Amino acid sequence: MSIPLDSSSAKKMHAYHCANQCTWCDGCGDYGIWTAVKRSLVESGIAPHQVLLCYDVGCHGNTSDKLLGYRFHGLHGRVIPFAAGAKLANPKIPVLAFGGDGASFSEGVGHLVHGIRSNYPMTFVLYNNGNYGLTTGQASSLTQQGQPMNSSPNGIPEHTLNAMDFVFSLEPTFVARAWSGDIAMMTRVLKAAIAHRGFAFVDILQACPTYNYFATHEMLLERCYDANTEGHKPVDAAKARHLAMDTSKRIACGILYQCEDIPSFYERLEPRRGRRTTVAEEVEIVDTGKWERMFQ
Ligand code: SF4
Repeated sequence: MSIPLDSSSAKKMHAYHCANQCTWCDGCGDYGIWTAVKRSLVESGIAPHQVLLCYDVGCHGNTSDKLLGYRFHGLHGRVIPFAAGAKLANPKIPVLAFGGDGASFSEGVGHLVHGIRSNYPMTFVLYNNGNYGLTTGQASSLTQQGQPMNSSPNGIPEHTLNAMDFVFSLEPTFVARAWSGDIAMMTRVLKAAIAHRGFAFVDILQACPTYNYFATHEMLLERCYDANTEGHKPVDAAKARHLAMDTSKRIACGILYQCEDIPSFYERLEPRRGRRTTVAEEVEIVDTGKWERMFQ
């Protein structure tokens, strides 16, 4: 399933290497996503000192000290605001934000809404394992209704959110899906997301063999397919929405929708128009002390 790396790429992959020991469970999909993220950065020609990787709390968040690069590990569900803030301060660097389905579709859902509608120029990767893994298997908004979980042995009474229906209702400019066992697919969609003009939403269906017994590696391997190689063109939002939502028999993966015509949030900021410097650079050359002194 994987594209062979040439030796120079392998050396660059090593540039992201961090000696900290991984603590994920055996068979966790986080291993595959971790590999694909590094690979997509290397194949995009981005070195560790040229990227910001933002994480919130969750099993996925423990990636923050398992690879090199500028990294920020923040509060549960709050990854989009601090990643967006960093990107707006320095739009020259690519920014990737990573969140789990628990946080991103509960306390962090407002940030997801405004991240998409603002079209911030950044990539958001959803680690979608259908539960709160770090806190030992509670149901999230994306857990199937009725599915017994540790905190709800009789199954949750609420209906399950259809994440893709929700995301498409916000008029996104980029939506892709992959699953954690297909490194080639994840690498391809992540590279496209990193290169996208605005907010790129990447849903990665992540196997969690410890707590998620309904979306196993075997099930994902059998049902996920590359929609792009089967002729899907990511140009029609309505068709893409229908394709993404219908997971009853097969699960469409790949780049499902992309529109590059809509300017990003930064491009629409009137005070930034024509500026050659970034906010981060301007803070270095402007004496901000005078404003601080005004309030002393
Ligand atoms: Fe991975 Fe699930 Fe274990 Fe967390 S609990 S490390 S998501 S397998």
